[in-house]
Amino acid sequence: MAGAAADSAVMSLGSSDTDLADLDGPEDLVRRLLEVARTRTEMDMVWVSRINGDVLSLAIVSGALGDSTILEGSTIPLKDSFCAQVIGGRIASWVPDVRALPETRDLPMAAQLGIRAFVSVPIKAATGSVIGMLTAVSTDPRDVDERTRDFLQMLADSASDLLRDVPIDGDDRRRLRDRIGRVIDHDLLTIAFQPIVDLEHRRVAGYEALSRFPGEPARPDQWFADAAAVGLGVALELHAARTAVSALTNLPPDTYLSINLSPAALVSVEPSELMPTDPTRLVLELTEHARVGDYEQLRHALDRFRGAGVRIAVDDAGAGFASFRHILELEPDIVKVDLAISQGIHRDPARQALVGGISELARHSGATLVAEGVEEPADLDRLATLGVSIFQGYLFGRPAPLPSNGLPEAAIPAHTIGTPAHRSRRVMESRFETAVLSAAVPTAIVDLDGTMRSVSDRFAAFLGRTTAEMTGRRFQELTHPEDLDADVEHLRACLEGRADGYRMTKRYLRPDGSPVSADLIATVVRDRDGAPLYFVSHVLPL
Ligand code: C2E
Ligand code: CA
Ligand code: CA
Repeated sequence: MAGAAADSAVMSLGSSDTDLADLDGPEDLVRRLLEVARTRTEMDMVWVSRINGDVLSLAIVSGALGDSTILEGSTIPLKDSFCAQVIGGRIASWVPDVRALPETRDLPMAAQLGIRAFVSVPIKAATGSVIGMLTAVSTDPRDVDERTRDFLQMLADSASDLLRDVPIDGDDRRRLRDRIGRVIDHDLLTIAFQPIVDLEHRRVAGYEALSRFPGEPARPDQWFADAAAVGLGVALELHAARTAVSALTNLPPDTYLSINLSPAALVSVEPSELMPTDPTRLVLELTEHARVGDYEQLRHALDRFRGAGVRIAVDDAGAGFASFRHILELEPDIVKVDLAISQGIHRDPARQALVGGISELARHSGATLVAEGVEEPADLDRLATLGVSIFQGYLFGRPAPLPSNGLPEAAIPAHTIGTPAHRSRRVMESRFETAVLSAAVPTAIVDLDGTMRSVSDRFAAFLGRTTAEMTGRRFQELTHPEDLDADVEHLRACLEGRADGYRMTKRYLRPDGSPVSADLIATVVRDRDGAPLYFVSHVLPL
């Protein structure tokens, strides 16, 4: 198959207008992808399989193979599949006629299903490990070659994010639904608030609500992706949104609350469900990286909120081309520059040009520009010269739970404000940090959400890592999954004021995944009013 044909297949996949009502999970998009793969390769059947231990399960199937029926969710031992042979490099990724080759002639799977030709390519996780295969098969010999393989590989790569979110099999699906259902039913998610700072007026303009979940996975966006994959995406998003909105009364009165909603959640929610007493204090951040087929429907849904005074933000601007179109079509009040664009912008003229463009577009439509993910003063300065005056990022404050007595103030970096009071506080803090980190036992200063703010050399060495590698990561990622729940439970007890510290034996993970045991002694540091600020963790290797 010619490269141009492959390109146009991807184009037609992208531009086939996505009805918002169908946007309830990656599964539908993968189905559409398989149909494209099947028509373009002219094969009888295409499937996505997932590797689950030593079993291969057919997660999503498109097309049919003569009389034999292959059901979605059916499994075969990995060793009997030709996928395993392909991964192991024992047979080629494409075979025009299985009977022509001694290595493939007797493959049990081919014989059972009457397969004569196949092409099979790996689907890889971000880490590079193979999590499944995209496979096209037919009951007659076919003229498949490396170009067919390249085409399928391109589809597998370009959609690997989606494919990763497709649950492995029925059991997995049930487990995911149970886990997510429990969070919703028992109200187990909490909200962290991150300040959004208006530097021109030297004040906190608002807070973004970010969901935090108990246990694995550590990343909140993975929870939303998992939920979407099993049809609970909208339910989880709305649960998070309601929880966040209910906390609005605890935020300082002159600040707004920014919540995240996908278009699918937005079109299905009744505005009265989310509307706070004062709707002008609510901002909806629209998160959507894919193309939106039906802007009319989306605008209509947004107007129901806008009518009441709610403001609209386009999230992650610059992260994909879709965001430019969102800005033009939706005329948002706020445009948020994606963190991937702001980070390191002072070193990168291309990103500066991109923000210049977004800034221009925002000015034309009267939108305010917010830059997220600002960590470095040099990036802050660069963004300011590009017309950004509102910022969100670790430089100003990490997402943090709402203490009973109000929010900790955002730290306005000393070099931007430079009042003597701020400077002296920073000096004190850094002295304290130096003292803690030079302790004789491995030590870390850990933020309330588990992010390791500072890590001593000894701690890093204990885990076979560098301090740079560990700083900014969450301890959840470095903890053995079986010990995580207990750790998080202790942590919660401290945050809720039921304890001032804890001691537990736990396993950390080294870079190669091997566990290493230690006694963890964590102490919560509180401010004068008793609100938790951070943890100091000492680790005694066992
Ligand atoms: P997002 O909406 O783009 O949120 C910003 C993310 O950037 C947050 O990650 C925040 O913690 C992180 N961040 C903020 N400042 C910095 C910084 O200076 N440096 C770095 N490295 N990161 C920074 P988080 O909390 O892990 O959330 C990830 C994503 O999960 C969010 O991305 C959002 O798409 C999704 N999400 C989180 N909570 C919710 C929710 O309640 N509803 C929905 N629909 N999505 C949510
Ligand atoms: Ca956001
Ligand atoms: Ca973002």
